[in-house]
Amino acid sequence: MLTSTSAASPADLLRPEVLALNSYHVPDATGLVKLDAMENPYAWPEPMVREWLEVLRAAQPNRYPDPHCQRLKLALRQANRVPDSAELLLGNGSDEIIQIILLALKGGATVMAPEPTFVMYRQISASLGLSFVGVPLRAEDFALDAEAFCTAIARHRPAVVFLAYPNNPTGNLFAEADVLRVLEAAPGLVVIDEAYAAFAGASFMSRLADNSRLLIMRTLSKLGLAGLRLGFMAGAPSWIEQFEKVRLPYNINSLTQISAEFALQRSQVFEEQVARLLSDRDRLSDELRCLPGVQVFDSRANFILFRLLRREADEVFARLKSDGVLVKNLHRQGTPLSQCLRVTVGTPSENECFLGALRQAL
Ligand SMILES: *Cc1c(COP(=O)(O)O)cnc(C)c1O
Repeated sequence: MLTSTSAASPADLLRPEVLALNSYHVPDATGLVKLDAMENPYAWPEPMVREWLEVLRAAQPNRYPDPHCQRLKLALRQANRVPDSAELLLGNGSDEIIQIILLALKGGATVMAPEPTFVMYRQISASLGLSFVGVPLRAEDFALDAEAFCTAIARHRPAVVFLAYPNNPTGNLFAEADVLRVLEAAPGLVVIDEAYAAFAGASFMSRLADNSRLLIMRTLSKLGLAGLRLGFMAGAPSWIEQFEKVRLPYNINSLTQISAEFALQRSQVFEEQVARLLSDRDRLSDELRCLPGVQVFDSRANFILFRLLRREADEVFARLKSDGVLVKNLHRQGTPLSQCLRVTVGTPSENECFLGALRQAL
């Protein structure tokens, strides 16, 4: 009970599931070669920057942004080949879209995803007091175990299933037939998170028209606009209109709206960057495979997961960092990722820096 004489502590007022959470840790990357967060390493060409700054002159910071993002939605539809029958919901990054979906669920609902996967599905579920069921991926290759997943679906009847396609942090693309089995078996919504669509060359977007419980989520972050914070979800209007009620009215600010629309009109710049990153990813993969005691997993995204077979991942991570290279240490996440690190594909010179430091560390 709260009395007027004692000041309330967090434990007096906040839900236990919030108190139990750890906040999402973002390490300081100052001065480091930043290969930890799947950012596109390439800046915009100088003439494009000048044009962009001109376009930004039209921004009106004193006015609220367009709450419906009409122009931006049109540009997103065209750039992503969203079927006409689907509606769009925009988020301040796709992280916010995950939160919007989960905020709208009934209390006590179950959320399901394979694991290891993108941690925000579990984190946001936990913050909202929803039950989260993680179904292990096959340990040897991180493939989706459709049999085990469908058994878990039958047992837990999840309101929402999240499938990252390709998966983060493993980098692999689940077999299409396995995803279709999950889609068939799920009683509720299936959100296919296509954050790495630009790199994967595979998508479920065209299947939206056939399945009203399917939602496709994408983001501009990994394509090269991480700083703008823009993600979107495409799906049947009957679902999107419900989630729209939970979305805050001005969640996409005017600078993001103008800048993202501008960028989408210059898709060739990004297509060239993606092509470069893909060929550099394959080169980096090959180089990693030549190193002794390194197990490299196939990637369909702009990052590579690898396991150290003869060294401690914590030590190698620390050595890389002291040599100025920041990657992601996944060892702490436990078993299927033990001794694993994840590196984002950078520029050729950043990749060389990383390889040089890794060779030293081994
Ligand atoms: C990075 C990532 C996101 C989040 O992207 P934002 O749009 O930047 O919030 C979502 N899903 C997956 C699988 C990711 O890797």
